[in-house]
Amino acid sequence: MKIILATQNQGKIRELQGLLVDEAIEVLSLKDIADWEDVEENGETFADNAALKARAAVKKTGLIALADDSGLEVDALDGAPGVYSARFAGEPKNDERNNDKLLQMLETVEIDKRAARFRCALVVATPEGKEFLTEGTVEGEILTQRRGSDGFGYDPLFYVPEYARTMAELTLTEKNKLSHRAQAFKKAIPILQALKVKI
Ligand code: IMP
Repeated sequence: MKIILATQNQGKIRELQGLLVDEAIEVLSLKDIADWEDVEENGETFADNAALKARAAVKKTGLIALADDSGLEVDALDGAPGVYSARFAGEPKNDERNNDKLLQMLETVEIDKRAARFRCALVVATPEGKEFLTEGTVEGEILTQRRGSDGFGYDPLFYVPEYARTMAELTLTEKNKLSHRAQAFKKAIPILQALKVKI
């Protein structure tokens, strides 16, 4: 069975291919689609945006499609940056400026009130119009300064108490084990297995 992951992100493609290696499921991505036009991610939730991307990929390819959308939710900011995580500090998207803005907005927030989580929503959509949603979250806290140099996005500010390190101080293997995305991807495997049986 062939499926398409609606992303150009090489890291996500590798991660899903790794999880499906024993499943006889071949993963294509948007890199394999010559004339893909980016979908406007104007949903109000991660799940809305994942569904928009998954539906567009089904329409374009006729294959079962997976799409994920993720970001950071900070309790003291009522869940912001949320679906605006990538462009929190405006266009063009810039991780450094996003982190600076987050630090500035939390400047007066006490250390024990800086709870946050990474959330990922993943939608599996089929050509018959069925849709399945999976989710993953990682709970943490936003530090007052960056720590670590691995990862991307908000990783240097996101402290994971369970590991006593920031996401940017974890190895890729460690991060892939606990990440919101890995959790959502793993929950999608039985859905894909069930769809494979029906094909
Ligand atoms: P995407 O929808 O997965 O591309 O993620 C949107 C934005 O959320 C990214 O540009 C990052 O700012 C943030 N984000 C999502 N996942 C992570 C992560 O694992 N670490 C750090 N930032 C993340």
